[in-house]
Amino acid sequence: MSNASIEIPRETTPPIIQVERLSYRYPNGTMALCDVSFSIQPREVVGLIGPNGAGKTTLQLHLNGLLPETVPDRSPAESATSVRVAGMAMIRPNLKEIRRQVGFLFQDPDDQLFCPTVREDVAFGPLNLGLPRDEVARRVEAGLAAVGLENVGDRGTMHLSFGERKRVCLAGILACQPSLLVLDEPTSNLDQRARRRFMELLKNSQAAQLIASHDLEMILDLCSRVLILDHGRIQADGPTLAVLSNSTLLAQHGLEVPLSVQYGRR
Ligand code: ADP
Repeated sequence: MSNASIEIPRETTPPIIQVERLSYRYPNGTMALCDVSFSIQPREVVGLIGPNGAGKTTLQLHLNGLLPETVPDRSPAESATSVRVAGMAMIRPNLKEIRRQVGFLFQDPDDQLFCPTVREDVAFGPLNLGLPRDEVARRVEAGLAAVGLENVGDRGTMHLSFGERKRVCLAGILACQPSLLVLDEPTSNLDQRARRRFMELLKNSQAAQLIASHDLEMILDLCSRVLILDHGRIQADGPTLAVLSNSTLLAQHGLEVPLSVQYGRR
């Protein structure tokens, strides 16, 4: 009998996000990111934690081309591109397709909502993708249903609660059917019920997710892996429970072991 090893088919899907040696300095000279490298696979849900000023928001802004000066008209050389989305280099000609793949949820819904009614706001993304009107309408209704707001489509966004406005933002993102959700503090300022509900919505999503948050219990519930960012550098990258049980590591970065881990409930 032949003892030739069985050939295992190699994974051909590129990571949904690949960041390689990314550094970034703001125009005022603040060094916000230093030599950051990591990747996220399709459907992977990853937490991004670290103290205030660590660089979490700056990193997330890079993943959707939201810092315009970081998106060149063309790549000087393919290898010189630090951010790739679904295999696409972060360059201006790819930006439209990249933004179709990456849905960005801002911490404050009022930074994201600007149309008079809920339905118009949810439709904005799909319309921007150039989808036909009937497909836009279908996606808007599906997005609103997914977040449990199918009855408020005609309401003004400013007449909804903070938690509802956050769900409208998520509906607008889901309506674009992204492969990756980039979420900046998705549970901040939500009451307990709204927080729990928002977490369930994220759990039901098929998209990969990068969730920046100080809500470590939520990170434990949703994320299989976690990155610690501090002083603009990745300080740890590992399974969530292992990282969030390491009191020495967490203390070095201004973080604490979550209570549920301290009391052995995980
Ligand atoms: P985090 O989201 O982890 O709190 P940020 O990405 O907001 O961290 O900030 C990283 C660093 O960049 C901090 O030192 C912050 O003061 C600085 N920074 C953030 N935004 C700007 C900006 N627009 N201009 C200059 N410096 C900034």
